[in-house]
Amino acid sequence: MGERHFIVLKHEGKVPAMAGCEKCKRKFFTPVDYSQDAIGAQEYLFNKFDHHSCEEPRPKPRRV
Ligand SMILES: [Zn+2]
Repeated sequence: MGERHFIVLKHEGKVPAMAGCEKCKRKFFTPVDYSQDAIGAQEYLFNKFDHHSCEEPRPKPRRV
Protein backbone atom coordinates (compact mmCIF):
# COMPACT_ATOMS: atom_id res chain seq x y z
CA MET A 1 0.00 0.00 0.00
CA GLY A 2 1.22 3.46 -0.79
CA GLU A 3 1.92 6.29 1.55
CA ARG A 4 -1.02 7.88 3.29
CA HIS A 5 -1.30 11.34 4.70
CA PHE A 6 -3.39 12.33 7.65
CA ILE A 7 -4.58 15.90 7.60
CA VAL A 8 -6.78 17.86 9.95
CA LEU A 9 -9.25 19.79 7.84
CA LYS A 10 -11.20 21.71 10.44
CA HIS A 11 -10.82 22.84 14.03
CA GLU A 12 -13.45 23.85 16.55
CA GLY A 13 -11.36 26.09 18.77
CA LYS A 14 -8.40 23.90 19.68
CA VAL A 15 -10.20 20.66 19.02
CA PRO A 16 -9.83 19.01 15.63
CA ALA A 17 -13.36 18.55 14.29
CA MET A 18 -12.69 16.97 10.95
CA ALA A 19 -9.74 15.16 9.45
CA GLY A 20 -9.11 13.38 6.24
CA CYS A 21 -6.87 11.22 4.18
CA GLU A 22 -5.08 13.21 1.56
CA LYS A 23 -4.75 10.23 -0.71
CA CYS A 24 -8.29 8.88 -0.98
CA LYS A 25 -10.09 12.00 0.29
CA ARG A 26 -11.90 10.02 2.96
CA LYS A 27 -13.14 12.22 5.79
CA PHE A 28 -13.43 11.55 9.50
CA PHE A 29 -15.50 13.48 11.99
CA THR A 30 -15.00 14.00 15.70
CA PRO A 31 -17.91 12.66 17.77
CA VAL A 32 -19.61 14.99 20.25
CA ASP A 33 -18.00 13.08 23.13
CA TYR A 34 -14.64 14.53 22.15
CA SER A 35 -15.81 18.04 21.38
CA GLN A 36 -14.02 19.39 24.48
CA ASP A 37 -11.06 17.04 24.30
CA ALA A 38 -8.38 18.14 21.86
CA ILE A 39 -6.08 15.19 22.55
CA GLY A 40 -8.87 12.63 22.60
CA ALA A 41 -10.29 13.99 19.38
CA GLN A 42 -6.90 13.90 17.70
CA GLU A 43 -6.35 10.31 18.83
CA TYR A 44 -9.83 9.30 17.73
CA LEU A 45 -9.39 10.82 14.27
CA PHE A 46 -5.94 9.38 13.83
CA ASN A 47 -7.17 5.98 14.93
CA LYS A 48 -9.99 6.10 12.38
CA PHE A 49 -7.49 7.19 9.75
CA ASP A 50 -5.07 4.46 10.72
CA HIS A 51 -7.69 1.75 10.32
CA HIS A 52 -9.37 2.87 7.14
CA SER A 53 -8.47 1.22 3.90
CA CYS A 54 -7.40 3.60 1.25
CA GLU A 55 -9.41 3.28 -1.88
CA GLU A 56 -8.56 5.05 -5.02
CA PRO A 57 -11.46 7.23 -6.11
CA ARG A 58 -13.31 5.29 -8.75
CA PRO A 59 -15.03 6.77 -11.75
CA LYS A 60 -18.78 6.58 -11.42
CA PRO A 61 -20.26 3.67 -13.28
CA ARG A 62 -22.08 4.70 -16.37
CA ARG A 63 -25.51 3.48 -17.20
CA VAL A 64 -25.44 1.63 -20.42
ZN1 LIG B 1 -7.06 6.92 2.46
